[in-house]
Amino acid sequence: MKKSKEDEVIETMIHMYCHSKHKTKGSLCNSCQALLDYAKLRIKKCPYEPEEKPFCSTCPIHCYKSDMRNRVIEVMRATRIRMMFYHPIISFQHTYQTLKNRKKKDE
Ligand SMILES: [Zn+2]
Repeated sequence: MKKSKEDEVIETMIHMYCHSKHKTKGSLCNSCQALLDYAKLRIKKCPYEPEEKPFCSTCPIHCYKSDMRNRVIEVMRATRIRMMFYHPIISFQHTYQTLKNRKKKDE
């Protein structure tokens, strides 16, 4: 999966989430914008090449801070049904599961 694609997916999800949860139109609310900026920065800063890199969630370098990761999980949980419909990406479900599993391990 290319970094740009990952970027695009997270952006679409956060927009969907913000528009339905926070009733925003067009642009994101401050907190969702911060989450998106954070996620994009993490994707950009990831030292792995797109070809060899697993999704950031499965990366051995845990670059997502746990509170931000929890928010990404929340976004994924809220949008995954629609995301699967609009973006039938196989690895998406995988990512969601990985994040969920990692969260369990942390607790
Ligand atoms: Zn929002």
